[in-house]
Amino acid sequence: MKKILIIEDEPAILLGLKDELSQEYQTFTAANGAQGLSLAATQQPDLILLDIVLPDTTGFKICQQIKDDGIDSSIIMLTARDQVVDKVKGLELGADDYITKPFSLEELKARIKAVLRRKEMLPAQEYKDEILTIDFKKNKAWRKNKLLKLSYLELKLLRFLVSRKEKTVTRRELLEHVWGYQAVSSTRTVDAHIGSLRKKIGKNYITTIHSIGYRFTP
Ligand code: CA
Repeated sequence: MKKILIIEDEPAILLGLKDELSQEYQTFTAANGAQGLSLAATQQPDLILLDIVLPDTTGFKICQQIKDDGIDSSIIMLTARDQVVDKVKGLELGADDYITKPFSLEELKARIKAVLRRKEMLPAQEYKDEILTIDFKKNKAWRKNKLLKLSYLELKLLRFLVSRKEKTVTRRELLEHVWGYQAVSSTRTVDAHIGSLRKKIGKNYITTIHSIGYRFTP
């Protein structure tokens, strides 16, 4: 049974979600950030539903901490504020999707399934050659033994490409799998992130396939 951790301080939402999701998943609940972080570390959930406004911290900080701690959970942010800027911020910090309150349970369940499915399609755990070393579980990468400053979104993008190395991946696929169900971005966003990734890891790793997409070449 897959594990879901719900971090949410509104008791009605927390209990409602727990009731509903317990039928399909093993669920854990936390009403604040500290409790949530400790459960994330001990339970290593497959997915975390993470409220943005919490009594002791913000969902953004929790998201960052979880990724920094090398916890390989997918994250869906719950937000009451339907702002594009929040969405981009969460995705940059490594969240996989967003859902805006109030939401329907059916919609949430569909998103959960989609995120868990995407996670199964990201099997690469690591990559290593003479120049580049990437540990996808710990979210860290090195070039010639020097730690690279990659954003979580860049790491996710790289993970998808490495998992399909030597195969062409379309921009649309990248948007769907890396940016999420409700893609907030246009395919130009993909190009911009590929550009910055190339600058960091070395430009020869990612080949442009004209008018189609990209290919990771070891
Ligand atoms: Ca809240």
